[in-house]
Amino acid sequence: MIDTPTRRSVLGAGVFAAGSLLTIDAGMAEVPLSLTPACHDGDAVTLAQTEGPYFKPSSPERIELIEEGMAGQPIELAGFVLTRACRPLAGALLDFWQADDQGRYDNSGFRLRGHQFTDAEGRYRLRSVVPGLYPGRTRHIHVKVQPRDGRVLTTQLYFPGEPVNRTDGLFRRELLMRTTRNAGALAGRFDFVVA
Ligand code: FE
Repeated sequence: MIDTPTRRSVLGAGVFAAGSLLTIDAGMAEVPLSLTPACHDGDAVTLAQTEGPYFKPSSPERIELIEEGMAGQPIELAGFVLTRACRPLAGALLDFWQADDQGRYDNSGFRLRGHQFTDAEGRYRLRSVVPGLYPGRTRHIHVKVQPRDGRVLTTQLYFPGEPVNRTDGLFRRELLMRTTRNAGALAGRFDFVVA
């Protein structure tokens, strides 16, 4: 197959963009995050889900939820907040909350709760532990996402390969994060698409 020079240079640029990795300094692990958001113009908005009974307003602003002596498998979750036209949104609010590795929420304090804002490139990153199971639920992380001057999207993120995903009625495949293991460190990736 013979490509015209124009065609070839377009393809070359695309391959370069897709292959470029930017490294987020995660303190413990370095997580490669594809420079190009994995989305397409006109993508569906991220599915909304119930916030459940354990949301608390006024979480501290932080990306690091792991505290001294906290048990559980560390995970760094990262990604973009995007418009339906695939445009990254800077300054979008993300408010995460989750159970600890034993499936318990902190309802008196703010353990494993934190909010943050996407950076100038529309990226977020969260350092936490993999949440435990509690009755009726598979592993999940709750989140509220709100663009500047936009509406709040409340949803939950799920982990691939979890047996309870099959029986938890709230589980949705579209809300699965992608996970990779890098020298024992667990990295998760999920891009939010908001209206
Ligand atoms: Fe929950």
